[in-house]
Amino acid sequence: MPEKKAAKKFYRTGEKCPESGLYEHFCKQKGEKARIPLSKTETFPPCRTCGSVKWVLVMAA
Ligand SMILES: [Zn+2]
Repeated sequence: MPEKKAAKKFYRTGEKCPESGLYEHFCKQKGEKARIPLSKTETFPPCRTCGSVKWVLVMAA
């Protein structure tokens, strides 16, 4: 696949948000993506459905 792989960075629950924006996580238990808006310096929450700890930035605010 001709896609850049290096760009994707995951953040974990409990880390501080480095950048305001929209973060998402693919929730396997729901079978769909869960998105949350987060402001800089806020802490990443766990997914309420599956307790996942991985978030990825989809859109910087
Ligand atoms: Zn989830």
